[in-house]
Amino acid sequence: VSLGEFDLIARFFSRTPVRSDVLLGVGDDAALLTPPPGQALVAATDTLVEGRHFLPGTPPECIGHQALAVNLSDLAAMGAEPAWVLLSLSLPAPEETWLERFANGLYGLADLHGVALVGGDTVRGPLVVTVEVLGFVPAALALRRDGARPGDVVYVSGSPGVAAAGLELLQAGTADFASNDERVRRFLFAEPRLALGRALRGIANSAMDVSDGLLGDLGKLCGASHVAARIDLDALPVAALEHAYTRAECERLVLRGGDDYELLFTVSPAQAALAEEAATASGCTIHRIGALVAARETNASGSVTCLRNGQVVPGKGSGGYDHFAG
Ligand code: ADP
Ligand code: MG
Repeated sequence: VSLGEFDLIARFFSRTPVRSDVLLGVGDDAALLTPPPGQALVAATDTLVEGRHFLPGTPPECIGHQALAVNLSDLAAMGAEPAWVLLSLSLPAPEETWLERFANGLYGLADLHGVALVGGDTVRGPLVVTVEVLGFVPAALALRRDGARPGDVVYVSGSPGVAAAGLELLQAGTADFASNDERVRRFLFAEPRLALGRALRGIANSAMDVSDGLLGDLGKLCGASHVAARIDLDALPVAALEHAYTRAECERLVLRGGDDYELLFTVSPAQAALAEEAATASGCTIHRIGALVAARETNASGSVTCLRNGQVVPGKGSGGYDHFAG
């Protein structure tokens, strides 16, 4: 059955917006939205390409979930509240069951966080999914990458590395997409840390989400803030992994694994207790993994240095990528 573009939009992407600040949603030339007075609009977009950002054969509900999750994670990392979503879909051939399942994945996560799909675009082409999310935050409270200061404590939320472990299971064929293995579920259905991000407003000096791996992303945060970081390898959260992996594998997964969408953030030592309370109240565990120092205190090998028992571990910093074989 060939499905026309307008039928397709009407059937799968026109659910009634769940928000009263949507004056006009899907159907007109553009959406009309009412931002709350006095807050900054926060906007982020991310594109997923089949074979590059998700494995061929990925269940459509996972693609729908992931396309939104990666964007919500960016808003979480800003301490922002998401409100509206736009969806641009490039599809090889509109297939009804695929679209139904994709829409369920996307709307499922959207409903969980009270965000409304208000528009998009639909074209024929290779499978590419682009989502844009809009939200808001009082500008002075936004969590930015460039606010970190020497002396800050470095935290990461949840259990980084678990999603990467799930990806490895799928790639090795040890597990399939229907697996109930916690690692696979975490990879396929990442949970953006929105409540934690909001809880850290006015407490964290800087934040970002971990999409490409903790070490590399911390390096980016350090670069934006002109600081350097010292990570204590003994403090890495490995509880969710250590039953199944060697210590070296755990460290590799936690430090280098992507796709977790945990939050990485820094807090001045005087605010650390407050940050821990706020995180607990938001329902998320956080782990103190290191501290920031002035950029000049580190050597030229990179902005992130790893320590074990207080000793520098050569080749494990952000500049030691090639040597980090685990
Ligand atoms: P236009 O020609 O003005 O770009 P379209 O025919 O592309 O309009 O889209 C018609 C309406 O459907 C618009 O309101 C647009 O935002 C919405 N829309 C198109 N594709 C999607 C989609 N995949 N998800 C949600 N809304 C969509
Ligand atoms: Mg269009």
